[in-house]
Amino acid sequence: VSRGAGALLALVLSFPTRASSPPVLAEETKAEMSRLLDLANRSSRAIEIVRSLTDEVGPRLAGSPGDAAAVAWAVRTMTALGFSNVHSEPVLVPHWERGEEAARVVAPVSQRLVITALGGSVPTAPEGLEAEIVETDSLEALGKLGEAVRGRIVFMNRQTERTRDGSGYGATSRLRVRGPSEAAKLGAAGYLLRSVGTSTTRVPHTGTLIYADNVARIPAAALPAPDADLLHRLLEAKKPVRVRLTLGCRNLSDATSHNVVGDLPGREKPEEIVVLGAHLDSWDLGQGAVDDGAGCAIVSEAVRLVGTLARRPRRTLRVVLYANEENGARGGKAYAEAHKGELARHVGALEADSGAGRCYGFTYRVGPGGEAFVAALKAFLQPVGSGEARDGEGGVDIGPLREAGVPSFGVRMDSTLYFDVHHSADDTFEKIDAKDLDSGVAVAAALAYAIADGAEALPRIRD
Ligand SMILES: [Zn+2]
Repeated sequence: VSRGAGALLALVLSFPTRASSPPVLAEETKAEMSRLLDLANRSSRAIEIVRSLTDEVGPRLAGSPGDAAAVAWAVRTMTALGFSNVHSEPVLVPHWERGEEAARVVAPVSQRLVITALGGSVPTAPEGLEAEIVETDSLEALGKLGEAVRGRIVFMNRQTERTRDGSGYGATSRLRVRGPSEAAKLGAAGYLLRSVGTSTTRVPHTGTLIYADNVARIPAAALPAPDADLLHRLLEAKKPVRVRLTLGCRNLSDATSHNVVGDLPGREKPEEIVVLGAHLDSWDLGQGAVDDGAGCAIVSEAVRLVGTLARRPRRTLRVVLYANEENGARGGKAYAEAHKGELARHVGALEADSGAGRCYGFTYRVGPGGEAFVAALKAFLQPVGSGEARDGEGGVDIGPLREAGVPSFGVRMDSTLYFDVHHSADDTFEKIDAKDLDSGVAVAAALAYAIADGAEALPRIRD
């Protein structure tokens, strides 16, 4: 061993044997994230983006003329925001129309009921469906009613709990999605649901149902809380309560809609992509302002703000405004299918679809080894009140990306008031507070920058 080699050996041994890993959030990355929080508070245009979508397009149910107008709006808007590669990608979507809807109690009294059809419902006969109603409050209790359901209209009466994290909706939405077929399995003629929502006004909330295969498809509608309470009180008198329900809705053949895509190319690895998603479609009753005009504005404005920085993130940020989340989730599936050869280069996904309340945190799903990164994000966002994080799915639209292993995030907005307006005629522009909306922009921009700027990509989700 020469003296030179010995000195070299001593030098090597004086360093740690394992290469020390770089910090999960580099100082330069954090500096840009701080800039983004500041920009979102000072110069966000998010409220103007929602105003434009709700006033100039309005409701946009999949396959409707409003849906096509929304796609044109999104292409126009993303181009104006300065994104690259702006284009639309076709998606075959269900096409359902609401039509006439009416109901009344016909015995033991005569009273008009306010109702709205559940999305995807079959119509009644033109003269309507008249039957006695039978009340229940869960799918389990419904199953136990057995023969008492045959030939009747099932009245599913369960309140949705008001919660900040939207968990109340998670608990009752299954009564809407699966209830009609569960009732039909027992021979029910129709289904009336206490609206899955927290409002106490006479405004009903729609939302999708999914008919099970090989089960009769029965007409289904939602009642607002006061009308549900009326039926409950009438039934307490133990006399038969009869209702006449008339729905003129129609299921038409599938239509073509589009996902709309726009990029902000990364400075070092532009071929690697972080998707920021929200859904462009909405229910037909309101303006789709909170659900999900707010999310469309949050992700679009977040990426625009990142584009104003001198130091862009290493990887590309891609806004995807998805088609048909509400009554089919076909947009998310179509994007993953159209890009299946490139999913290995999709290194992160983030969705905004939890309303327009103040942003209190985020959900995440990352692969083993990603925990330190999540902890660093929480610590970074804690001082601005947006650092609450829990493991969660992120959103419906990015579901197919998550299933392909793409680390997934969701912006969590305070949902305490969200389900007062969600899927109802009350989902209108003036419900949105611009400062609350901007708190979502700030978090989406900071998270997206962090995910896209790491020296290494985040570990992918494994099952
Ligand atoms: Zn939504």
